[in-house]
Amino acid sequence: MASPTVSAPAPASAPAESLSPSEAVLTSVFESAARLNLDAEVIDLLRTPWREMRAQLPVRMDDRRLQIFEGYRVQHNGARGPYKGGVRFHPKADIDEVRALAMLMTYKCALMDLPFGGAKGGVMCDPTRMSETELNRLTRTYTQHIAMLLGVARDIPAPDLGTNAQTMAWMMDAFGQLNGHTPGVVTGKPVELGGSFGRDQATGRGVAVCMREYARLEGVDPRDIRIAVQGYGNVGSWTCRVASEMGFTVVGVSDVKGGIAQPEGIQVGALDRWVGVAGSVAGFEGAHPITNEQLLEIECDYLVPAALGEVITAANAERIHARAVVEAANHPVTPAADAILGRRKIAVLPDIAMNAGGVTVSYFEWTQNIQQFRWQLDRVLQELELRMVGAFGELMARSGRDGTRPRQAAFDIGVERVARAIKLRGFV
Ligand code: NAD
Repeated sequence: MASPTVSAPAPASAPAESLSPSEAVLTSVFESAARLNLDAEVIDLLRTPWREMRAQLPVRMDDRRLQIFEGYRVQHNGARGPYKGGVRFHPKADIDEVRALAMLMTYKCALMDLPFGGAKGGVMCDPTRMSETELNRLTRTYTQHIAMLLGVARDIPAPDLGTNAQTMAWMMDAFGQLNGHTPGVVTGKPVELGGSFGRDQATGRGVAVCMREYARLEGVDPRDIRIAVQGYGNVGSWTCRVASEMGFTVVGVSDVKGGIAQPEGIQVGALDRWVGVAGSVAGFEGAHPITNEQLLEIECDYLVPAALGEVITAANAERIHARAVVEAANHPVTPAADAILGRRKIAVLPDIAMNAGGVTVSYFEWTQNIQQFRWQLDRVLQELELRMVGAFGELMARSGRDGTRPRQAAFDIGVERVARAIKLRGFV
């Protein structure tokens, strides 16, 4: 096998497992800033977000109790365009997590060369324990509280963990009640309300396109590559569907209820039919059951964590058998695990590039809303392919040129573009 243009030098010292999410992002940003020789004033600007809002969200629950939730919107940097980033409804959506995700969005949008800055929102709540009417009221209250920050040319939210197209429809409606009908103020909407065709498959398709490009760099045919995917939700299932169309062999998948393995390859169409009936991949006929921990350690070529953050840690990084970890989920590899994988010469293809298909099609949705002109699915997928191949190629070329790991190359490109926009605008 030809050697990939990937080098995986180990960092000088192993980082602590206990870095907070924002400290982990800042570590990468500062490493890039040092390599790029950035001006200290630019680094100071990037260190903290431009604006953070914390809002008290009182909601009348179905049983007439008043429950007070806490919500956030963090706008990290808008030098390259309006702020862009999802809204997360999750019990652990605290300000540090939201801040870290806002920072990541700044560099993800810059890496993909989208005309956006980075933001993120969150409400600390458990949407799985709330009724639809409670979620509707909470979403409207949240939107009213942050409405002065939003706008087609200001800040454009999207779905994230615990939110979906319905949540975006409520946000659009609540914003529209104050400002008139404005579909471009949120993306990830239902197609009937101005959502883009292809948004559902965008992230998983982007992951599969990057894997195909990585295989091409390795000089290996996808038919000779076995993949294992943790999570069979939106991202994981679309990754499996598109990757198997490309010829990859899916040898293991899992979801919150358990996992399955089939070394000779899982038929993804049949698995989809099974999941439609059983509600889980667990129990799929012909495959043998495995746990989520076993899935991460399975014999495969590319391992794709596509469920939760921080699943590959110092505790299991020595037992990963894949030669590449493809970060479809956000932050699935802890900094300490990343150092171990680097030492073991296992490539880590970073989240800010791998899962950027979602924000890329969100960008297409925004442009379609502004032009009031719908693109057909073919055009969306073609443009997505172009953007993903372009950005992934650029990052791997940079990694090869500089002898840096792909994550660092991705940050170098993102940080460099943001710093250039800061300078051009005359912020410093
Ligand atoms: P989803 O809710 O559709 O699916 C999540 C999947 O993970 C489900 O199959 C669920 O059963 C599984 N899961 C949950 N807990 C698990 C556990 N403890 N062990 C194993 N599996 C578990 O979510 P999604 O939209 O597919 O997002 C997955 C990841 O990708 C998240 O980290 C998200 O932040 C990231 N991401 C998603 C998008 C997008 O467009 N959907 C874009 C960028 C990043």
